Amino acid sequence: MIVKPKVRGFISTTAHPKGCAKNVEKQISFVKNNPKKINQAPKNVLIIGSSTGYGLATRIVSAFGSGSSTIGVCFEKEATDKKTATAGLYNTVAFEDAANAEGLYAKTINADAFSDETKETVIDLIKKDLGKIDCVIYSLASPVRKMPESGELIKSTLKPIGKPYIATAVDTNKDQLFEAKIEPATQQEIDNTVTVMGGDDWSRWIHALQNADVLSKGCLTLAYSYIGGNITWPIYWEGTIGQAKKDLTSTAKKLNKFLEEKLSGHAHVAVLKSVVTQASAAIPVMPLYLSMVFKKMKQEGIHEGCIEQIFRMFESKLFKLENQFELDNDDQVRLDDWELREDVQNFCKLLWPNLTNDNLFDETDYQYYKDEFMKLFGFNFDEVNYDEDTDIKVNISEI
Ligand code: NAD
Repeated sequence: MIVKPKVRGFISTTAHPKGCAKNVEKQISFVKNNPKKINQAPKNVLIIGSSTGYGLATRIVSAFGSGSSTIGVCFEKEATDKKTATAGLYNTVAFEDAANAEGLYAKTINADAFSDETKETVIDLIKKDLGKIDCVIYSLASPVRKMPESGELIKSTLKPIGKPYIATAVDTNKDQLFEAKIEPATQQEIDNTVTVMGGDDWSRWIHALQNADVLSKGCLTLAYSYIGGNITWPIYWEGTIGQAKKDLTSTAKKLNKFLEEKLSGHAHVAVLKSVVTQASAAIPVMPLYLSMVFKKMKQEGIHEGCIEQIFRMFESKLFKLENQFELDNDDQVRLDDWELREDVQNFCKLLWPNLTNDNLFDETDYQYYKDEFMKLFGFNFDEVNYDEDTDIKVNISEI
C-alpha cells in the first residue's frame, strides 16, 4: 500500500511502518551514541503504555541505555487489508526487531492495561521469562477506561473547573488562531477523569504484581505526570486532568509506603516536560503553548523531546547512585525544571496575547510542532520514500 497521512483533528488515521521504524531507530541511536552513561539501571523493566511517547522512550532508554530486558503493555490496532496499523504497533515491532538484533529480551502484550486479564497475562509472562521485575513504569494516556468489575466505560475529559476557559489556540488543520472557549466540567466529569487517569489502575497493577511475588527487593515504580506553568493551569493542573494527576501524587505516597514495607521498594511520580505526543496534541491550547515553549527552549539550548527527557531522568535523577533518587519536597522526580525556568515561562506569557495569524510561524516554532506531530505517525522523514509501496501488515512477536 502507498501510505499517506490522513489527519483528522488531532490524529492521523494512517501510520507509515517505515517512518515509525525510522522514528524508533533515531531514538535508539540517540541513546547509543550518548557520551553519558546510565550506571545502576534496573535489569528487568515493565512499561505500561510502552508503544508511543514517553513510554516508548522509556523502553528504548532501558533497553539500549542499560541493556535491560523489557516487557511492554500497549493498546494498539493491527493493520487490516485496507487500513494501516496504529503508529504504536509499528513502533513496537521496530523496537522488538532492534532489541532482538542485539540479543535483548523484549516482549509486548497488546491488550487493555485496565483489565484484570491483562495483568494476569503479564504476571504469567514475568514468571515464565524473567522471574521478577525491578522497575515498573506507568505511562498510560487514555481517554477511556473499561471498569474491570462492571464493564462500564468511563470517559475522561479535558476541561477547566469552576469557570469557562477562554484562550487563543491554534486550529492545526487550518493553521489559524481562534479563541477557544471551553465550558467547565461537571462534578461527574471531574470524577470520571480521576477514575480514568488517576492512580487507581496504577495501584491495582502494583498490588497485583506484589501479590504474585514478581517484584524484586528494592523495586521502583514511577507514574508520569505533568504540572506545567501557571499559564496553562486553568486547563491542565487546575482542570479535570490536573485532578487526576493530583490523585496520582497521593497514590504514589500510599504505594511508596506499601512497597517500602514489603520490599524496601519505592513509588514516585515523575513530573515531565510538555512534548508532542498523541496525548498532548489532544489537550486544548497545548499545540500553541508547545510552539512557544519550543522556540524559547531551542534558543536557550535546553530543548528536549521524549527521548532526551527520559535519558536525562535515568542518567541524572534516578540511577546515579543505588537507590538514591533526586526528589523534590513532595517526593517527586522533576524533569520539568528547564520548562519551568522563569525566562521560558515569561517568554510564553508575553508572547501569547501578541500572536496573530501573520506572525505565528515567525514568533513561535509552530512549523516544528507540525513536523513533530507528523513524525508521531511515521511521516516527514527525509529517509523514507512515501511514494513507494510498503507492507502494512507486521506483527508483534508471540509471547
Ligand atoms: P501517548 O499517547 O504517546 O502514549 C500512551 C500509551 O498508553 C500508548 O503506549 C498507548 O498504547 C497506551 N495505552 C492507552 N490506553 C491503553 C490501554 N487501555 N491499555 C494499554 N495501553 C494503553 O502519551 P504520552 O504523552 O507519552 O503520555 C504518557 C504519560 O506521560 C501520561 O501519563 C501523560 O500524562 C504523561 N506526560 C505527558 C506529557 C506530554 O507532554 N505528552 C508531559 C508530561 C507527562
